[in-house]
Parts: sequence; C-alpha cells; structure tokens
Amino acid sequence: MDYVTNSPAETEALAEKLAARVVPGTVLALSGDLGTGKTVFTRGFARGLGITDTVNSPTFAIVNEYESHRGPFYHFDVYRIEDADELYEIGFDEYIDEPGAFILIEWPERIMNLLPKETVFIRLEKDFEQGPDYRRICIGGKDETFGH
Ligand code: ADP
Ligand code: MG
Repeated sequence: MDYVTNSPAETEALAEKLAARVVPGTVLALSGDLGTGKTVFTRGFARGLGITDTVNSPTFAIVNEYESHRGPFYHFDVYRIEDADELYEIGFDEYIDEPGAFILIEWPERIMNLLPKETVFIRLEKDFEQGPDYRRICIGGKDETFGH
C-alpha cells in the first residue's frame, strides 16, 4: 500500500494506525535515506502500542527496549552494524524469536538475510519537487528494491 504524508504528525498518525493492526510477533523493516522519517514513524508506532516513553533513535545502543500492554517493543537501528556476527553478539536472534514481541528495524538493508520471511517491509521516500515535508510511504509486500 502507498501512502503520502505532508508532516511528521501525519507520518506518526499513519504508523500509530498500523500498530493497532499488527499482531504480536511482527517484525517491521523500515528503509529510507537519512532524515526521511524512520524514527518519526517509530514514534507513532510506539504510541499505537500505548507506549508513552520518549522514543529516540537507538543508533548507538543498536536496540532500545520498551514495554507495552500488548507486549515488548524492540526498536533496532542497525546502521552501525558491520556484519551478522556483531548482531548475534547483541542477541539479535533471541529478540527475533521472542514470542509476542513487536520488532521494528531501521536500516534493514544491512541484515536482509537475517530477517524472517514474514517481515513487513516499509519504505519512506522524499520527493523534493513535492516540498520538504512530503513523504511517500510504501507498506507491505516485498518491494524489489529490498532484493529478496
Ligand atoms: P530517519 O530516522 O529516517 O533518519 P528522522 O525520523 O530522525 O529520520 O527525521 C525525519 C525528519 O524529517 C524530522 O526532522 C521530521 O521533522 C522531518 N519531516 C518533515 N516532514 C516529515 C514527514 N512527512 N514525515 C516524517 N518526518 C518528516
Ligand atoms: Mg532514525
């Protein structure tokens, strides 16, 4: 599905609605260049799970963990991950296999072959001709740009 948003608030609202629909155990892979709104989207998603904590990018921590009334929420940003070994060191496979968890991963391109095949792929894109706050957001399916 393709969506358009014209503000961070709209992107958050879209993600919040999505969170209400996804089942526990879902892995979401969030692609898009720097500044397209992956972390903004994640904030809305967390809000949709009922999480009231401040959600910031876990770039340095790799993963931030939150509790929601629907289950744990793990927010990964694997931008700095060099290889699969590094990810296994932080227990990635245990996070992925945890029943009932919600998992969202920024920069999944680096770890495509480690994602479950049911992963929900989401892509955010800017289009400067449409203005600085315009974002196209594609949710679901296996976009050919993801390479699997
Ligand atoms: P990323 O995590 O993809 O690097 P961020 O979510 O950290 O990006 O930042 C996105 C930036 O773009 C924020 O400064 C936000 O205010 C701005 N922005 C402008 N328009 C939008 C929009 N429609 N959706 C999301 N963010 C937007
Ligand atoms: Mg980010």
